Amino acid sequence: MSLAVFHGGIHTMERDTPQPETHDTETYDIVIIGAGPAGLFGTFYAGMRHMSTLLIDALPEMGGQLIALYPEKYIYDVPGFPKILAKDLVKNLIEQALQYNPTVRMGEQVTTLRYADAEQRLLEVITTCGTYYGRSVLIAVGVGAFAPNKLPVPGIDEFEGKGIHYFVKDKSIFHDKQVLIVGGGDSAVDWALELHERARKVTLIHRREGFRAHESSVRALHASPVEVKVFYELRGIYGNGQVQRATIINNQTQETEDIEVDAVLLSLGFKADLGPMKEWGLPIDKRTIPVDRDQSTPMQGVFAAGDIAGTTVKLDLITIGFAQAAIAINSAKTFVDPEAKLFAGHSSSMGGQGH
Ligand SMILES: Cc1cc2nc3c(=O)[nH]c(=O)nc-3n(C[C@H](O)[C@H](O)[C@H](O)COP(=O)(O)OP(=O)(O)OC[C@H]3O[C@@H](n4cnc5c(N)ncnc54)[C@H](O)[C@@H]3O)c2cc1C
Repeated sequence: MSLAVFHGGIHTMERDTPQPETHDTETYDIVIIGAGPAGLFGTFYAGMRHMSTLLIDALPEMGGQLIALYPEKYIYDVPGFPKILAKDLVKNLIEQALQYNPTVRMGEQVTTLRYADAEQRLLEVITTCGTYYGRSVLIAVGVGAFAPNKLPVPGIDEFEGKGIHYFVKDKSIFHDKQVLIVGGGDSAVDWALELHERARKVTLIHRREGFRAHESSVRALHASPVEVKVFYELRGIYGNGQVQRATIINNQTQETEDIEVDAVLLSLGFKADLGPMKEWGLPIDKRTIPVDRDQSTPMQGVFAAGDIAGTTVKLDLITIGFAQAAIAINSAKTFVDPEAKLFAGHSSSMGGQGH
């Protein structure tokens, strides 16, 4: 099982992606696709209902949009929290989700979902790293799989994995390195602050003056040894089998500069894509899958919750995703085990052990 861990508020993977081909022969009661808030809460709920659970996400980090798009923003409309930072809500959701020891596969995009048997009781979930089997599936893919934004700059593709990074999976690889970070959001600023003590030098370039990051982080950045260069853009990456040099340009004066670097971290945000989901044979209407009142999709044994679920009243809110995940898991439980009750009782009566 590969688990994501928190490092100083930034949620990273313990090991490198892409992961090796997996050979998982277990048939899970439920395979949950997407580790955003709906998928994470669904994972907890499935554990509470004694369902063996596999959670898969294309990103190396859990949290969906909250981590990919707005980790440092406060959320004000999650019941029980007058306000909470998105990354803190995710931290709590992960703690809650992992307590029943689900299997977690991060950094794997689901490419195919289909039946493995003629009776349509066994579902086959194929990812970029392996094939898994489930008696039911919860689709909680939100607005689609996130992929990092890339730059059309010479050398970027050539040196991917040879000094060009989009995620920090292991901070130790930056030890004593000359690191160039590109970007002006929370992730770029947080990583500059996180890496400067370990690296020989950290330079951060941003094409504008203003940063889209938390005010206190930007203040800390300017007070740190990180060399911050605003109005600068990346023009080229060069090296000999490994990144050795970057050309940057001042977009105000058009002057270029060559700097020695061994590692480049591109923190340029993410784009979401429903991508291969369009081939799963499910109807997709306005980027959603139509669901019934029990969150079931037209595909037997397949349920949907969160932003992807096409309900009559459509509200893309975290709390709505939580409720839909609870309904979907209870429905999936009775699908997998027709003897089981839809409503197993209140968690407060279960002593944390579930039914
Ligand atoms: C800037 C911003 C601010 C917001 N503020 C609020 C707010 O204050 N309150 C509120 O209630 N809501 C807010 N929202 C909306 C909220 O974030 C979403 O409703 C919520 O994230 C949806 O959760 P989800 O679990 O359905 O999907 P997501 O959070 O989108 O997570 C889906 C996950 O599925 C993964 N995935 C997708 N496709 C695949 C695949 N094929 N294989 C593997 N994994 C896949 C993705 O990588 C992702 O991690 C905000 C949204 C944005 C963009």
